[in-house]
Amino acid sequence: MHYKRFHPYRINTETRDKHADVWLNAEDFIYPYFVVDGENKQEPIATLKGIHRFSVDRLLIDLERTVLAGIDKILLFGVVEADKKNVEGSWSKHDESVVCKAIRAVKQQFPKVMVITDICLCAYTNHGHCGILNNRGDIENDLTLAKLADMALAHARAGADMVSPSAMMDGQVLAIGQALNNNGFNHVNIMGYSAKYASNFYGPFRDAAQSAPGKGNRKSYQMDFRTRHQGIDEVASDIEEGANWVMVKPAHTYLDVIARATHRFPEIPMAAYHTSGEFMMIVAAAEKNLLDEHEAMIEALTAIKRAGASYIISYYARNYSERIKY
Ligand SMILES: [Zn+2]
Repeated sequence: MHYKRFHPYRINTETRDKHADVWLNAEDFIYPYFVVDGENKQEPIATLKGIHRFSVDRLLIDLERTVLAGIDKILLFGVVEADKKNVEGSWSKHDESVVCKAIRAVKQQFPKVMVITDICLCAYTNHGHCGILNNRGDIENDLTLAKLADMALAHARAGADMVSPSAMMDGQVLAIGQALNNNGFNHVNIMGYSAKYASNFYGPFRDAAQSAPGKGNRKSYQMDFRTRHQGIDEVASDIEEGANWVMVKPAHTYLDVIARATHRFPEIPMAAYHTSGEFMMIVAAAEKNLLDEHEAMIEALTAIKRAGASYIISYYARNYSERIKY
C-alpha cells in the first residue's frame, strides 16, 4: 500500500514554521477605538475585556503604545452623550463631534497613522437605528444616504484618511463617494462594510458604543445569515459604487464569505471584522479554562487571514502585535 507521509512537515517547531505560509503581522491589523467627550477619561468597557472608552487626550496616550506595537491603522467610533442624540442623528455631521476632534488630534500627533472612521447614525440617533425612520418605524434608505454623506464629509474635513459606512443602506458607498468628490476630498478612501450580517456576535460592541436599538432589530437592513450569494453580491455592488476596500463582518463565523469574495475580487483589499462577540467568546472560554486564550487568539486571527482577508479589525490587534513579531 502506498500513501503520502505528512508527519515530516510537522515533526518539530522549526519544521512547522518552515512550512507555515500564513503569517500575521501588526500591519495586517486595524485597531478599533471608542472615543468620548471630556478630558482625562479612560473608562473600561465591562463587556469588552481590556478595551476602554477614551477622551481624546487619553486616546493620544494610549495610541503611543499601539503605534509602538507596530499598528498603523485605527478605526474610530464615537460614543455620544444622550443629550446630543435626536431622531435624525444630526450631531453626526458636526465638526465638533468627538470623532472629528479625535481625527484632528491623532493626525496632528501621529500623521502616519491611518485614521478610518465609522460612518453610521446609530450612535447619534435617540432610537439607536442606523438610519432615518418613517412614521411606521421603518428605515428610510434614501433619506439616510444624505445624512451618511454629510457625516463622511465632516470626517474628511477633519482629516480622516478613510471613511467606512456601516449602516448597510443601499447606495451608501456611491452617495458618500459623490459627496467626497464634489467637495474636493477624492483622496479620502472608502471602506464599505459590504457584507454586514445581522449577527448575534455584536452584543458587547453595542454596550461599548451605547448604540443598541431601543426597539426592534436591524434585520431589515443588515444581511440575513442564511443567504449564500447575497454577501458576494453586496461586495460586488460596493466595488461598483467605488469602494476602495470592502469588508465582511463578522469574520470568524463568515470565513466562507471572505474566501469567496476575495477569490472573485482579488484586486480589492478585503477587511474582516473580528467582532466583539467573537472576541469575548474566546475570552470567556479562557476564563473557564476551556482553552488557552493566547493560542486560540492566534488560531482565530490566522484563520481570517488564511481565508483571504488583507486586514483584520480586532480587539486583539494590540495584544497580538505586542507578543508576536515575525
Ligand atoms: Zn449602525
